[in-house]
Amino acid sequence: MDNKVYAPDSTDAHIDALKKRYGGDLVILGHHYQSDDVIRHVDIVGDSLELARRIPDIKARNIVFCGVYFMAESACLLARPGQRVFLPDHDADCAMARMARAEDVERVLERLTSTGRRIVPLVYVNSSLAVKAVVGRFGGAVCTSSNARIMLEWALKEGDAVLFLPDRNLGCNTARALGVPADKQVLLDLSRDNLDTEDVRKAKLLLWPGCCPIHESLMKVEMVDAFHQHFPGCRVIVHPECSPEVVERCDGAGSTAYLIKEVENAVAQGRESALCVGTEFHLVRRLMEKYADRINIIPLAQATCPDMDRVTAEKLLATLEGLDAGKGEVFVEEALKAPARESLVRMLEICR
Ligand code: SF4
Repeated sequence: MDNKVYAPDSTDAHIDALKKRYGGDLVILGHHYQSDDVIRHVDIVGDSLELARRIPDIKARNIVFCGVYFMAESACLLARPGQRVFLPDHDADCAMARMARAEDVERVLERLTSTGRRIVPLVYVNSSLAVKAVVGRFGGAVCTSSNARIMLEWALKEGDAVLFLPDRNLGCNTARALGVPADKQVLLDLSRDNLDTEDVRKAKLLLWPGCCPIHESLMKVEMVDAFHQHFPGCRVIVHPECSPEVVERCDGAGSTAYLIKEVENAVAQGRESALCVGTEFHLVRRLMEKYADRINIIPLAQATCPDMDRVTAEKLLATLEGLDAGKGEVFVEEALKAPARESLVRMLEICR
């Protein structure tokens, strides 16, 4: 929460009143990257994996998801029969997820497997349900930033090569950590259609050309170097959606849950005067404010996600006001559910 003295305006008061009215029939979930104006109304806050894990235990009939579209789709997949999932703004999509369209993924997989090679697709959870369904049909699995290493190890053993999508950075950073040689990794160039080259045929890891613009373009090597210079001996920790060049210069990389845990550990141990955190800024600012008297948390960049910021308190209120009429409800195609669930269940089984 921010430090300003908080006086509820009428939007906040209306949201509170509607939450009270719906009681146990309503749960509001919010991703860490949401603004304070939204987060203050959220019942469960977490990263995409943590929130997905909570869905099966939710009994409320109405689940309002303050996040981006693919998260609401996953919630639909995991919800109980009769439960309804709402997203306050259906245009709140993830820029990275948009970089992999289901029809392109299917076409590429058909081409790559047409020679009889066993290609295992591994799809980051930041992807549409339609893409997860394609991956499920091709015998692949979902992964998250927390379990990417375990999942990539599995996929490499399972097939002749792995197609990692949509985030080339998470794929490359994870492969480096596992020791996959650089000359066994190929970044696909869909515009040049480089699917039949010798490089591609010999590669162990094929990287889809997608990325998170927030983590990739706004967090740079020079910023990491500048922090190390100003705070000698202090660490920079980043999300693995950052570029491999940035991750290589940092002192640690991991999921949102990892970054939060590292901050908590640093506060508990009290050995570091400063810690630089490279991820979305709403989250970093809340950590800065929470521990202001204990440690100097410094953002690698003040980068917020415009897709996440599409959800506002006003839109949340409009969704709650239209709940009975189904305003903002998310529906997923029935035919996609089984194959998408297959790719998710495969991950859960491998990580059990
Ligand atoms: S921060 Fe990046 S990966 Fe996360 S929702 Fe925004 S665009 Fe997608």
